[in-house]
Amino acid sequence: MTAEIINGKDLAQEIRMGMKEEVTQLKERGISPHLTVVLVGDNPASRSYVKGKEKAAAEVGISSSVIELPADTSEKALLDRIHTLNEDENVDGILVQLPLPKHISEQKVIETINPAKDVDGFHPVNIGRMMIGEDTFLPCTPYGILTMLQSRDITIEGKHAVVIGRSNIVGKPVGQLLLNENATVTYCHSRTPDLREVTSKADILVVAIGKPNVITAEDIKDGAVVIDVGINRLETGKLTGDVDFDGTKEKASFITPVPKGVGPMTIAMLLKNTIKAARGLEPLE
Ligand code: NAD
Repeated sequence: MTAEIINGKDLAQEIRMGMKEEVTQLKERGISPHLTVVLVGDNPASRSYVKGKEKAAAEVGISSSVIELPADTSEKALLDRIHTLNEDENVDGILVQLPLPKHISEQKVIETINPAKDVDGFHPVNIGRMMIGEDTFLPCTPYGILTMLQSRDITIEGKHAVVIGRSNIVGKPVGQLLLNENATVTYCHSRTPDLREVTSKADILVVAIGKPNVITAEDIKDGAVVIDVGINRLETGKLTGDVDFDGTKEKASFITPVPKGVGPMTIAMLLKNTIKAARGLEPLE
């Protein structure tokens, strides 16, 4: 079997086209979504991610602004800035680009963002709403993964989904979203003694480790759906995922490439969340 490739770049483009239409209609009703990105320090990777987000926002008609702060900005100054953005009626979505300099607590920053403007979906209130299945801002990468599966009508209900990785931004929430869709979910991580024993039983395998080629064809079941979240830069400069793509694609039914896989979907979902923030979340029952 040769897997069908789920191209996240093309799917994200398609989704952006739909959002452009939606934003035009919102603007006719006087709602003009605005995203503010806060960038602290000058990590080149962060800078390039921020540029990608600005460009994608502009493409769908969402206005954005970037607040650049020096690396030695104090935690208090950053939190004060966030409070100001929380109060600013013209700002619908706030995203603080991670990672932050070591002297600033990322968790404190995340918890300071008004949950109604938390378009990254990292605030504990939004994570909690996701867990109980309420309307919320889903964290962008897991949301992108779910959208990729749904775009190919891949059945999730009743399937065994295995997630490798348990970070708060990818592993844990993607497992929760798959559970919300009625999958039977197993989490694996760095302390899992026999990874292959678990991955070889997965109908849907989500790999979010951050190390190249950890998963090979021998680790998966025939016909598995393989979602590769990892982004690793090899010494050659080439970008690669966590999965041995060439070998695995001969055994899987669907697979996502790196690049052009989950990455572009993450940004598309950020824009979706920004539009949602401009419209307003549904209140809790
Ligand atoms: P993280 O470092 O916070 O978490 C990595 C997880 O992998 C940990 O839970 C750890 O227990 C597990 N792990 C490490 N080594 C392992 C091993 N040998 N076997 C099994 N589990 C192991 O990373 P993260 O923030 O979740 O990101 C994971 C990867 O996804 C990174 O490459 C990151 O760059 C990428 N990422 C991509 C996107 C995207 O949009 N495509 C978004 C976020 C993260």
